[in-house]
Amino acid sequence: MQEYLDQLNEAQLAPTIQKDGAMIVIAGAGSGKTRVLTYRIAFLMSKGVDPFSILALTFTNKAAREMKKRIADIVGTSEAKNLWMGTFHSIFAKILRFEGHQLGYPSNFTIYDTQDSQSVIRAVIKEMHLDKDVYKYKQVYSRISSYKNSLVTVKAYFNNPELMEADAMAKMPRLGEIYKSYCDKCFKAGAMDFDDLLLKTNELLTRFPATLAKYQNRFRYILVDEYQDTNHSQYLIVKALSDKFQNICVVGDDAQSIYAFRGANINNILNFQKDYDDVKTYRLEQNYRSTKNIVNAANSIIEKNKTRLDKVVWTANDEGVPIMINRTMTDGDEGRFVASNIFETQMNEQRKNGDFAILYRTNAQSRAMEDALRKRDIPYRIYGGLSFYQRKEIKDVLSYLRLILNPKDEEAIKRVINYPARGIGQTTIERLTVAANHYDRSMFEVMKVLDKLELNINNGTKNKLKNFVTMIESFQVVNQTMNAFEIAEHVAKKTGLLTELKKDGTPEGIARIENIEELLNGMRDFTEEQKELADATGSLSEFMEDVALATDLDNDKGDDDRVALMTVHLAKGLEFPYVYIVGMEEELFPSGMAMNTRAELEEERRLFYVALTRAEKQAYLTYTQSRYRWGKLIDAEPSRFIDEIAEEYKQYLTPITEHRYKPLLDADIFDEVDKSKLRLSKPVAGKAPTGPSEDQLRKLRRLKPVTSSADKNFDPAAANLNVGTFVEHVRFGKGRINKIEGVGADTKAEINFENGGLKKLLLRFAKLNVL
Ligand code: ATP
Ligand code: MG
Repeated sequence: MQEYLDQLNEAQLAPTIQKDGAMIVIAGAGSGKTRVLTYRIAFLMSKGVDPFSILALTFTNKAAREMKKRIADIVGTSEAKNLWMGTFHSIFAKILRFEGHQLGYPSNFTIYDTQDSQSVIRAVIKEMHLDKDVYKYKQVYSRISSYKNSLVTVKAYFNNPELMEADAMAKMPRLGEIYKSYCDKCFKAGAMDFDDLLLKTNELLTRFPATLAKYQNRFRYILVDEYQDTNHSQYLIVKALSDKFQNICVVGDDAQSIYAFRGANINNILNFQKDYDDVKTYRLEQNYRSTKNIVNAANSIIEKNKTRLDKVVWTANDEGVPIMINRTMTDGDEGRFVASNIFETQMNEQRKNGDFAILYRTNAQSRAMEDALRKRDIPYRIYGGLSFYQRKEIKDVLSYLRLILNPKDEEAIKRVINYPARGIGQTTIERLTVAANHYDRSMFEVMKVLDKLELNINNGTKNKLKNFVTMIESFQVVNQTMNAFEIAEHVAKKTGLLTELKKDGTPEGIARIENIEELLNGMRDFTEEQKELADATGSLSEFMEDVALATDLDNDKGDDDRVALMTVHLAKGLEFPYVYIVGMEEELFPSGMAMNTRAELEEERRLFYVALTRAEKQAYLTYTQSRYRWGKLIDAEPSRFIDEIAEEYKQYLTPITEHRYKPLLDADIFDEVDKSKLRLSKPVAGKAPTGPSEDQLRKLRRLKPVTSSADKNFDPAAANLNVGTFVEHVRFGKGRINKIEGVGADTKAEINFENGGLKKLLLRFAKLNVL
């Protein structure tokens, strides 16, 4: 039980086993901050701390899941199950479901995603007859979002002449009115946007001292990963909850603070010492992730930043190879270089696809990479970008499902009231909106009492509206007895959505049907998994909670072997043996939109530091000489960050391109770079990318993982399962049965899985193979 503590060095052990008090671990990339947090939770539990009273906040839900799995390995699954772990958004959404009624929200409130929010804002701008070229909805949305994250409510806004002045200067004097109308609309629709999940939590904790006390007492131990990227709103929540017991452990790295543009405040980490009575500060210095060469190269970069805490990072790992730098003519060539390099490395080093990551500054860069990987038949997965759940046809289905849970959800109504076509026109919808505003009710409530109101809507249309209401209400009734998958299938059929798409017949229409099928498959898996877990039901509301805050990273169950493609921002906290950072060009990385001040440029540099420190064995930097941007072919120049890596840690695979860029910043920034050191290393002859030989292809195919042959129709009764039997599960891997309990359809087995730890499964649903 204690032996997990042996897997920590001395510096890591100290914060791990300091049971009480406030502490901060500040340390560079790969030094085991996340490991300390994980083991610390296991340690607290071993000292008798109830898992119910531990709250751990992570940057992604995937990180939370992985941490929980690791803890379960140490302390057992049933114990780890009760830990509260997740992102700020998911944890506080859960709390708001219990407590939101105090603020006037229904427990089944909808969570509006960015698309929904922006659509509400567009409607407000239109209603107010404002010029949409002046009031650009995306810009308005991001201003409102930043107000919310700084806890500037509508009321606070109108009490703050400076903010109003600033918006007026930005030619948006009526921003406050938009803000107010937007909030009113969301509230009436029983909806919160992403920022509300934090803002309303803050409101809850300040306005209701009894509720604050309840959660203070509940979460006696609070832990936060990636603390450097908390914004003001998150900071205040953590501060409030931890104020009573002051058992708080935060870990972070100021050099990896990369979300200032979203309101993250690096001062939260710098000021931590002042916030609590007796703060212990720990530093970790040994990096376990990367080679010496990568660690040193990353250090040589981050040294160029003026605003930073002094930190040492070293490693006892192998020397490794230099950072490889490659230039190509076009972004197409860049893609081909990366793809063929991945292929060769797979051959030579016997590596899986999942050992490789391609990181870029902007999502648009993924296309060239995708094309090249596809041509080479290398499986990949793109993280970020438009998520599956935001595709039109998927959102249509989800909108019906949202209405079942919360019929006030106005964005959902607007989306599907006339889709598939039911003869309900735009004018009718506008009249309903006006009436809803007038009576201060939701659209659905208005539609339910049409006959009692004076509305300029004819009887034929009224009947159509009534039919729509009846349909949604009938879904609500059947939802009582159906699981998420069944109700979704029911909805897809009864609404005529599938019939509508089938009529279409174009390749796009067919692709849409396939996507809906994919959604239904996903929902079936979800309900089965939930049922397997014996303490959940697989209901629609469980599914929707999961989906509302899902990011692509969360959907990754790690069960298929693919090259990962993502932005550098998304890669924070992750690690891969081989990392390709592509598009290393001026105005792309560093971004052309972040070169105006030293602070912006330093944030870009931290971003590059994050990118480079994801690599365990080898990092490649690539750039092209020309690239299409904003529809134009432009001459690209190599990024200054390439120059900034100290000579001894990099190697050029192609001759170096001369720089043409003129300093865009104060001269002193460029003085930091010792120009005499630039471009001294000898270019190495680049290997021309070659295609795979037949022999190599055969070898590669052999490397592909064998997929599990789980039998969906597995019958436990006929399978002779006993305590001690070895079985295999699609997701949890191999395991041994510990215990069998219950009879007939309720028979459950407790199984100790290699990958999944201890799980209790209902045999009726469990997809097991006897080994
Ligand atoms: P980042 O700043 O990128 O989030 P981090 O400080 O959180 O990094 P971890 O992810 O916890 O670092 O650790 C980096 C890698 O080193 C992981 O693979 C981890 O398992 C490993 N590691 C950490 N500490 C040790 C140790 N004492 N012995 C062996 N491996 C370790
Ligand atoms: Mg980490």
